[in-house]
Amino acid sequence: MNRIDAKLAATLRRPGELVEAGLAPAAALAGLETVAARYAVAVTPDIAALIDAGDPDDPIARQFIPSVDELVEQPGENADPIGDDARSPVAGIVHRYPDRVLFKLVHVCAVYCRFCFRREMVGPGKATALSDEAYRTGLDYIRAHSEVWEVILTGGDPLMLSPRRLSEIMADLAAIDHVKIIRIHTRVPVADPARIGDDMVAALRVEGATTWIAVHANHPRELTGSARAACARLADAGIPLVSQSVLLRGVNDDAATLEALMRAFVECRIKPYYLHHGDLAPGTAHLRTTIEAGQELMRALRGRVSGLCQPDYVLDIPGGYGKAPIGPNYLSQPASLARDRLPEQQYRIVD
Ligand code: SF4
Repeated sequence: MNRIDAKLAATLRRPGELVEAGLAPAAALAGLETVAARYAVAVTPDIAALIDAGDPDDPIARQFIPSVDELVEQPGENADPIGDDARSPVAGIVHRYPDRVLFKLVHVCAVYCRFCFRREMVGPGKATALSDEAYRTGLDYIRAHSEVWEVILTGGDPLMLSPRRLSEIMADLAAIDHVKIIRIHTRVPVADPARIGDDMVAALRVEGATTWIAVHANHPRELTGSARAACARLADAGIPLVSQSVLLRGVNDDAATLEALMRAFVECRIKPYYLHHGDLAPGTAHLRTTIEAGQELMRALRGRVSGLCQPDYVLDIPGGYGKAPIGPNYLSQPASLARDRLPEQQYRIVD
């Protein structure tokens, strides 16, 4: 499985390179070296070009440029915040819900997000790609569980694999009768859109199963012309696209930015799917909002944009218990009255 295309030569991976590129202050170097010794760093040329180095609060920089705030851990934060390990019957597989499994093929990404919920597992020097043997064991597990309708390829970023290897994996999965859906979670269309070439698009389509792609982006500026063209190549090939975003303090925690992000997704034929509340990953408190703030933003979004643009605001319950929708309620009624007996005027729109 160790066939990752490592062509991202121009990617900035060391704090010294970030300083040289003007993306981090020289005075911060020692602290950033300490952060980088624990958590992987990678900023692709596409992402570096998006950063406004003159803006100390740039929302793209906040997502990708390390900060000494990451060295501060809060009570409750932990290395496996959504409890993958507790639900992993064999290496690489997480089986949390009956009808679907996660299949974690690789542990590398094009970029490393400073808020990543798997930050203790991804990056060079952390776990490596699944061995061929572990991959086969994962396939056997899926084959033996006829209730598994959907396989979610995640990681790391599965689109870091070569198109040739991906097409082998897609064929292996599609050959399992009960696997009907293969969903791929990726940041590549945004972080390195040129990787979504004809060969990659061809690799993602397979006889016998339907491919869905979940595109991760958090700020409307990430949907550049190149990123939009990459998404269009996928959509034009008939691959349905959904979005994943994380609610992040100082990045997208205001209604106008969220609105612009959701509109940009829909313009790219990406249906807004999940807005994740920040997970309790170590050293990420400076990027998390409160749930109340998130609910307020969702309420604001409901009033501002089309239903097409509404994601589900969700929380991954720590410990591996799965996702819970945590969006605001829009309707209330006295708890003591049964709904079917309540006159319409007794409902109250919550505003
Ligand atoms: S691309 Fe996904 S897995 Fe990789 S660092 Fe970002 S959030 Fe984590």
